[in-house]
Amino acid sequence: AKVSGKNALRFFDPRMQQAVQERLHLENEIRQGLKNGEFILHYQAQLEQSQGIVGAEALVRWLHPQRGLLAPGAFISQAEHAGLIQALDQRVLEQACAELALWAEQPALAQLTLSVNLSANLLYEDNFVGSLLELLESSGANPARLKLELTETLLLDNMPEAIARMTQLKNHGIRFSIDDFGTGYSSMSYLQQLPLDQLKIDQSFVRGLPEDTNSLTIVRATCALAAGLNLEVIAEGVESEAQRAMLLANGCHRFQGYLFGKPLALGAFEQMVMADRAE
Ligand code: C2E
Ligand code: CA
Ligand code: CA
Ligand code: CA
Repeated sequence: AKVSGKNALRFFDPRMQQAVQERLHLENEIRQGLKNGEFILHYQAQLEQSQGIVGAEALVRWLHPQRGLLAPGAFISQAEHAGLIQALDQRVLEQACAELALWAEQPALAQLTLSVNLSANLLYEDNFVGSLLELLESSGANPARLKLELTETLLLDNMPEAIARMTQLKNHGIRFSIDDFGTGYSSMSYLQQLPLDQLKIDQSFVRGLPEDTNSLTIVRATCALAAGLNLEVIAEGVESEAQRAMLLANGCHRFQGYLFGKPLALGAFEQMVMADRAE
């Protein structure tokens, strides 16, 4: 193909053209899926060593009309590129709040916290604080049961704004967790500036346990840091009993991972909690 302008290749290379068309198709499907309510939540249990199940992480799934149940890897980055992630995260928050309000009516579920992932730009949207508070109010969800998972990179994009918004939400009882802790940024000075409640040890460090000494060093340091800063610490991606024991021995009492349960549809998750309570 002859290249004449900046984007000329895109129009002359048939493979590139196909890739562009596939992307546009997926974007339209996501848009349609948002309209049709095809995005649902799965719930993965979070356990505390002596208390059992204390909460869940809400993980979005796409109930695609042709392709079945899709995990976020198949659509989150495309939704980000298309500017649809805010709408998607908003939908997730709505479902999470609706669920929290229903759980509050059932004694076995009333104490659970629900962690929700916030990506890229929703935190920085013009009226994010106001609209989230409104959503909590209209849904009847208790803000103290909601935990927002944010990544270091997202927060460091605009620290002053992040601090201001998080502080407002925290004043209403909402809690904050740093997701994938240790994988993002090298400076830790932000930890003392942000109104945080929890650090979440990334599964890449848990995976190396119990043998890998580098992973263990990072896990230990994170637990010490959390203890010193008065933050809760939780580990994700816990798959084996040996990993759980190693985490516990180093000061991490909260776990999430396949060892305890995969992300489950709502009904199955609620049954799991009931069974846990009955033990
Ligand atoms: P994440 O926040 O780090 O979520 C943890 C991922 O690890 C989930 O994958 C979960 O299913 C998986 N996982 C949990 N336990 C284990 C384990 O023991 N072993 C292994 N190998 N994996 C485990 P999932 O559900 O595919 O989600 C992938 C990512 O998509 C999430 O990573 C999160 O960054 C993003 N995501 C999920 N839901 C949402 C959402 O509602 N909004 C946004 N913006 N992002 C979301
Ligand atoms: Ca997460
Ligand atoms: Ca994570
Ligand atoms: Ca992760």
